Amino acid sequence: MTTIDLTALRKFTLETGQPTHPELLDTTPMERVQDIEIDLEHITITYNQTINHYYNSSENIEREWIYKYNEDPEFVAAVARVIELARRHLRDLPENVACPPGCAECCSGYEPFVSRADVDRIAAHLHMTAQEVLDEYVVKRTSADGYHLGYLRKVTDDIADQCVFLKESRPGRFYCGIYEGRPADCRDFSPIGCDDVNKDLPRNKVLKIGPPFQPKHRKKNSLRR
Ligand code: SF4
Ligand code: SF4
Repeated sequence: MTTIDLTALRKFTLETGQPTHPELLDTTPMERVQDIEIDLEHITITYNQTINHYYNSSENIEREWIYKYNEDPEFVAAVARVIELARRHLRDLPENVACPPGCAECCSGYEPFVSRADVDRIAAHLHMTAQEVLDEYVVKRTSADGYHLGYLRKVTDDIADQCVFLKESRPGRFYCGIYEGRPADCRDFSPIGCDDVNKDLPRNKVLKIGPPFQPKHRKKNSLRR
């Protein structure tokens, strides 16, 4: 039995950062989870019993973790919710944790709204001014609270068309041309539970992407900053 102090666990996470690439996550322990018991003070995770056979003996391993007593029932309840969520999504790993490379259904079907911070980030990414980004790439539609300034332009006037920043590396394989500078709305899109996923795309292939999006003015005058 191992006891894990949640405070230390959180510190470890903060110090090291966690891998966000599903292929880097070690999910083996989760696959062997036999039982999770949660009460107001403890979370007990019991692993499957494993038996290792040797030439003339066998080793019996039964592992159990108990998360240390925590005085805050709300915190324990929150951990319980996270575990439950992880278990639900574990059932259909790996299909549920990453977008298939090249899928961009959401870059056509939706209009990502942009805030002032989004416009500034895109402007810095493209070496343009915020006003230029607003004029060239944003359909102005200020939200009632003034937070959103509008949504990203499509390649045509048809709202169901592709985002102006969407690029295609080969037919049917898309990538975002301003990935590091994309708006918060795009960052919030999650493949978990996404109904729009292009199911025809293979998930185990690496997508070779092409060059990033180039603003029209940069094509004419690459010296402009
Ligand atoms: S900015 Fe990028 S991620 Fe967002 S809709 Fe456009 S192409 Fe897709
Ligand atoms: S799986 Fe869903 S969220 Fe991911 S790119 Fe495709 S449509 Fe967008």
